[in-house]
Amino acid sequence: MKNTKYIFFTGGVVSSLGKGIACSSLGLLLKSRGYHVTVLKLDPYINVDPGTMSPYQHGEVYVTDDGSETDLDLGHYERFLNTEMASYNNATSGQIYYEVIQKERRGDYLGATVQVIPHITDAINEKITGVGDKTGADIVIVEIGGTVGDIESLPFLEAIRQFRLNHALEDTLVVHLTLVPFIAGANELKTKPTQHSVMRLREIGLQPDALLCRTDRLLPAGVKQKIGLFCNVSSEAVIDALDVQTIYEVPLQYAKVGFDQLVLKKLHLDKHRLNIRNWRQKVERYASVNKHIPIAICGKYVELQDAYKSIMAAFVHAGMENHVKVDLKWINTETLLDGNLEEKLGDVAGILVPGGFGERGIEGKLRAIRYAREKKLPYFGICLGLQTAVIEFARHVLGKKRANSTEFDPETPDPVIHLMETQKAIHDLGGTMRLGAYPCKIRPGTKAHQAYGALKVNERHRHRYEFNNEYRQALERAGMIISGLSPDGKLVEMIELADHPWFVACQFHPELKSRVAKAHPLFREFVAAALEYEQKK
Ligand code: GLN
Repeated sequence: MKNTKYIFFTGGVVSSLGKGIACSSLGLLLKSRGYHVTVLKLDPYINVDPGTMSPYQHGEVYVTDDGSETDLDLGHYERFLNTEMASYNNATSGQIYYEVIQKERRGDYLGATVQVIPHITDAINEKITGVGDKTGADIVIVEIGGTVGDIESLPFLEAIRQFRLNHALEDTLVVHLTLVPFIAGANELKTKPTQHSVMRLREIGLQPDALLCRTDRLLPAGVKQKIGLFCNVSSEAVIDALDVQTIYEVPLQYAKVGFDQLVLKKLHLDKHRLNIRNWRQKVERYASVNKHIPIAICGKYVELQDAYKSIMAAFVHAGMENHVKVDLKWINTETLLDGNLEEKLGDVAGILVPGGFGERGIEGKLRAIRYAREKKLPYFGICLGLQTAVIEFARHVLGKKRANSTEFDPETPDPVIHLMETQKAIHDLGGTMRLGAYPCKIRPGTKAHQAYGALKVNERHRHRYEFNNEYRQALERAGMIISGLSPDGKLVEMIELADHPWFVACQFHPELKSRVAKAHPLFREFVAAALEYEQKK
């Protein structure tokens, strides 16, 4: 059997230090040195998955090819590592307890008292080794959600303590991500928060092997020595995680301070040659781009951009390939009225309506879409953005004034969007949507075809409602083009408008498949259309 190595990432002092980006960046460097790397996110909350959580609570729900609803950090892993994650790359306390309790009900524990130690901790360790076994990775990076000191994360940290006990010293590593703040009044970098956080970790039985210190300036040797002394690590294992302009520079900064080399040394792995030329070129070239283009995101959770993480990333990737920086203008569609469309949308070169649920903000979305359609402004609709585009067209082009989705108006006389047949008997909310990757047939000669350069694609879904085929003919006759269909021809997956420079919408979520290495073709072409629009103006 393969001797898989495990790197555990814990976080301390405060949340939001960017543990997901840290794991992704280290992963990228190790992959670029020729290792097969995968990442596991362990989330200490009790929900079985984030699928039922509000975006306000949790940000975006990231859907994988195999149809699991996972933590948004999996998006970072996929984008940085340019690989596909699966259900086994994310586990939550809820999922682990659920499985243990089901086993208990079946009688699998043969009368034993079921306890956190060893039953829950064993189940956690099975998740950890499971990822190694299933992927055959050389290195598994394990990110523990939350911050050391949280009651919820204790079983995970205890499980790691046991895991390390059962593995050779050079097969596991604990990296603790912490903050070393600069206090202006004292004109000093402060190490105490890090000392305290490591103290907590050591109380639990985990001695970190390396400290990744978020800082706004490089740590002087004396500061590293002090941290090393108090935290019981050598000062060479105190790594500067310097603030940088964009998340894409993090791997480059880590490479510069030799973080990946330290990790390989501690794991007794050969260094191989680091090959991140393409990444470096893309990131450096993009940093020097001066051209900007404004695009509006007309959604509901715009105050909380974590809900649209993958969309934001996809625009960076598309910007890289179009040599332009996309300035996103966040518009809460509840504020869009007939009287203020010009004021709110008059200066943008494209409009995107993202995915969403529920009735709030729908009328504003319809106004934005009508504006884009009539002004020949590039429009890109994603999931709900396709559904609302169909409603808008039915209302204002077909003249069906009360056309709607049954999600928003169950009594509508014209349900142009309705519940999928397969959804009708479902009552549980968790994990029951149409989820994951499905093939889609592209119609030749369409904008979709032009973008993809292919006639069959695979895209990821997360929805319950769909285009109602009873209206297909009428909509097509009025100028709507069905440009993507499920292979059996039954589900409308993409639409566009004949009489418009770039009006494209899809029932799936293309943002989930965009990568730094290769922007998603629909985002790339949308940005290109926006550039063209701007030029003509
Ligand atoms: N609420 C819509 C549905 O369930 C759209 C979902 C989405 O945009 N992800 O079909």
